[in-house]
Amino acid sequence: MRIVMIGAGYVGLVSGACFASMGTEVIVVEKDPCRVAALQAGRIPIYEPGLDRLVADSVRAGRLRFEVALDRALPGADAVFLAVGTPSRRGDGHADLSHVFAAAAELAAALPAPTVLVTKSTVPVGTGRRLAALMREIRPDLDVPVASNPEFLREGSAIEDFMRPDRIVVGTDSVQAEAVLRALYRPLNPAGVTLLCTGLETAELIKYATNAFLAMKITFINEMADLCEQVGADVHELARGMGLDRRIGPKFLHPGPGFGGSCFPKDTQALMRIAQDAHAPARLVETVVSVNEARKAAMAGRILAAFGGTVRRRRIAVLGLTFKPETDDMRDSPAIPIVHRLVELGAEVVAYDPAGMEQARRDLPAEVVYASGAASALAGADGAVLVTEWNEFRALAPDWLRATMRGRVVVDLRNVFDPAAMRAAGLDHHAIGRPAPH
Ligand code: NAD
Repeated sequence: MRIVMIGAGYVGLVSGACFASMGTEVIVVEKDPCRVAALQAGRIPIYEPGLDRLVADSVRAGRLRFEVALDRALPGADAVFLAVGTPSRRGDGHADLSHVFAAAAELAAALPAPTVLVTKSTVPVGTGRRLAALMREIRPDLDVPVASNPEFLREGSAIEDFMRPDRIVVGTDSVQAEAVLRALYRPLNPAGVTLLCTGLETAELIKYATNAFLAMKITFINEMADLCEQVGADVHELARGMGLDRRIGPKFLHPGPGFGGSCFPKDTQALMRIAQDAHAPARLVETVVSVNEARKAAMAGRILAAFGGTVRRRRIAVLGLTFKPETDDMRDSPAIPIVHRLVELGAEVVAYDPAGMEQARRDLPAEVVYASGAASALAGADGAVLVTEWNEFRALAPDWLRATMRGRVVVDLRNVFDPAAMRAAGLDHHAIGRPAPH
């Protein structure tokens, strides 16, 4: 089979490379010529573990290539996937569909034959029908079946998630589209993966409902962490006690500085707007959005308190900038409001992230100094703030931290350090939702 993937971002590149590794011939079309040139030269423009090898293997096998020109990629394709970005529309939180419709219009004009159109991007309910109408309008001569096939991969474990998904969702009214998608995913059948077929609207909503539910779980444990701090309970034991209940499960019960990233913030906002427009307001989701925003904004205050009420001229090492480990993605990272506020308050921020510093330079104030490693960020610092739980930070020994820093304050926004060991090393350790050890 042969497919075209429009968009060489986190989703398009990973899905394209994974389909190619399963034997499909894939052409990834990307409008950014620099990105295409890099890919053609064998460089991967994003940080995603294992992606470089997967891409190189499929390119070598002749099953994966990259193009700027859509019309050159289309002949002979069984399906065209849209994997372009759907960020929040500035100002109102609705999903910005300009990339989706621009790509679809370009596709409609260039299609040489009827081809299945699949939306992999996360799009509001009703978008599939609008795309079908657009296709009919621009190309009344072609019958283009439309399907929704939302993607559930997570950055940092994207290949594994794509190859071993909890489920595959296909939303369509078209027998042909369903058959094409079933065939494309057939190599995953031996792994016992469920392919759930639904209507278009349901598939579109499954993606938003899933992300909103996970965001709600995180927000719930964050609120419980705040409560733990007030009543002397330990949020880790609480989460374990809850998570052992199989109706709840242990995942997404890790407290932290509030969820960020390229999906949860924009998808919860978009679902909130979708529900409001449909006159079925999703009050829980609305609350999740506002509680999470308040939490991210409150983190700098927590750091300020740990430093005794002022950070002016204090040298603070910020460890981790990306919204989670194993990615270079800075989109909506909690580090952004934290670092902006610390700089506003007069702190001298020295930041280090294993993969995100290039993107971070665009999002953080110019005053921030970037270190080449954790050791140089911490050397001579009055304190440290751990924002992203990269493994290399987990491995830092309390005694070494104490010896490397000038000061003693460590604000551990991901609870990676053992409070008792930190205290024993003479550090002033501030965790989330955990009582100070006696
Ligand atoms: P991204 O911004 O990393 O990548 C999108 C790419 O599409 C960019 O490289 C852009 O230049 C390209 N593009 C835009 N318009 C184009 C056009 N007309 N022709 C060719 N290329 C075009 O976005 P992403 O993170 O990969 O997300 C894509 C979609 O998948 C979004 O809807 C997102 O919500 C969804 N999603 C993302 C993730 C994730 O972890 N990133 C997970 C699941 C779903």
